[in-house]
Amino acid sequence: MSENTEKDLRCERVRLLLSRAADAVATAEQRAEIDAHLPECADCRAARAADEAVRARLAELASVPPGFGEQVLAAARHQAAVARSQNRFLMAAAVAAVLVAAVTVLWRGGGTSLDSAPTSHEATRALIASNLAERGR
Ligand SMILES: [Zn+2]
Repeated sequence: MSENTEKDLRCERVRLLLSRAADAVATAEQRAEIDAHLPECADCRAARAADEAVRARLAELASVPPGFGEQVLAAARHQAAVARSQNRFLMAAAVAAVLVAAVTVLWRGGGTSLDSAPTSHEATRALIASNLAERGR
C-alpha cells in the first residue's frame, strides 16, 4: 500500500470520527485518535472547520425566533374567530331565507305551499344544507 493511500484511509477514518465527535457519540479512544491526527493533517483540520461552519449555520436556521409560538397561537385564534363569525353569518342567512319563504307563502294566501314557491324554497334548502355542512367540519 502506498504512503498516499494509507494517509487517505487514515483521513477517511478520522473524518468519520469527526462526525461522531460533532454528534457527541465518539468514544474516548476515537477522540484521542482525532487529537493525534489533526495536528499533522491540514486537510482534516479544514474538513473539521467546514463541518463546524455547516453545523453552526444549520443550528441557526433551525432555531425558532423569539415570540414565534405566540404568533402561531394568535393566528390560530384569529382563524377560529373568523370561522365562528362565518358560521353565524350562514345561520343568519338561513333564518332570513326561511323568513322570506314564509312571507312569500303568507303573501300568496294560506292555500299556497312551499312547493309552489320553488325559488325561495330551493334557496332556503341550499342555505340550510351549506350551513349544516359548515357545522359538520
Ligand atoms: Zn487527515
